[in-house]
Amino acid sequence: MNPGSESTAGAPTPAVELVDLTKRFDDLVAVDQVSLEIDENRFFALIGPSGCGKTTTLRMIGGFEEPSSGTIRLHGEDVTGSKPYKRLVNTVFQSYALFPHLDVFENVAFGLRRQGVGPDLDRRVNEILDLVQLSHAATRRPRQLSGGQQQRVALARALVNHPRVLLLDEPLGALDLKLRKEMQIELKRIQQEVGITFIHVTHDQEEAMTMADTIAVMNKGRIERIGEPVEIYDDPRTPFVAGFLGASNLMEGQVSGNDSITLPGGRQVRVKPGALANRTGKAAVGVRPEKIHLGREGADEEPGNRLTGVVTDRSFIGVSTHYLVKTDAAGELAVVVQNIAPERFSPGNAVVLTWSPMHTFVVSQ
Ligand code: ATP
Repeated sequence: MNPGSESTAGAPTPAVELVDLTKRFDDLVAVDQVSLEIDENRFFALIGPSGCGKTTTLRMIGGFEEPSSGTIRLHGEDVTGSKPYKRLVNTVFQSYALFPHLDVFENVAFGLRRQGVGPDLDRRVNEILDLVQLSHAATRRPRQLSGGQQQRVALARALVNHPRVLLLDEPLGALDLKLRKEMQIELKRIQQEVGITFIHVTHDQEEAMTMADTIAVMNKGRIERIGEPVEIYDDPRTPFVAGFLGASNLMEGQVSGNDSITLPGGRQVRVKPGALANRTGKAAVGVRPEKIHLGREGADEEPGNRLTGVVTDRSFIGVSTHYLVKTDAAGELAVVVQNIAPERFSPGNAVVLTWSPMHTFVVSQ
């Protein structure tokens, strides 16, 4: 089926569909009944800690690993069990694996020459070199290129085949932080320009949030959460997602209304209206460190939730300062303050922490 074509139900056919996809290595279940749909033209990130099954999932989509059970459909076609070259999918790996003796142009042209592409070859290679901004380096060998430029050649080599889905396995892993950040923006631009689905595997949650329009968080072979970065960040729903995607302060207490819990010491923490409707017993709630306002007793306090405590640690991170505050009611909480704030606190200072119930999410235990 063509991009954007419709299935019989009327909804557009997803670029990638996984149905109960499972991979076992002897006793180990590396990927455990994963089902998901990825639409056309998405930048999709698969994230999770080391060993959670990201690469195995990607390898099954690419056809490099045979599933133990389940189905893989690409643009509506069942490709489970078909060879990698039969799929309109290309992969960019962390190791660029460029041919050292060939120049940039020939590295990119290599696959096309093998396929017997004729008069069109020069135009196609030049078009892609233009896209990755390497036209000026077409005659250079890989060793004459920076890490970021080599990564662009690897990307060009995958894109020149006009895949309908591009798989990226930690493609920026070998780059230093500054280059990595530049390439994140670059990759996103390229994805938008070529308009195909990118599936990007990374353990770097910040990288995923920078680039992806949909994120799937994997934990022990399963997808624990899927959604837009902002949606998942603001309402992570489980302690694992709250801790993996950014930092969180979690507090446990007894449900004391539709929108509040009472901490063990008796203090109330309010959450978004109705977020605890129909709940009783114990519940855990969370707040992101940068959503907390830090002030001195009696100074202009934000309305909403309020705890008192003592600063135990302070680290200066350039744009922000990270504090640890030992609170009376909820243990040690992390607070991130942008460095435009007028006041700085030191370990030992008594402080008041305030934050909005709208920034307080509920997590299931
Ligand atoms: P990382 O971020 O470290 O690459 P990952 O999330 O990509 O991790 P996978 O590489 O998919 O994880 O591995 C998932 C699990 O399957 C791990 O426990 C790994 O040791 C195991 N595994 C992967 N490939 C094989 C294999 N060929 N044989 C046996 N076990 C494997």
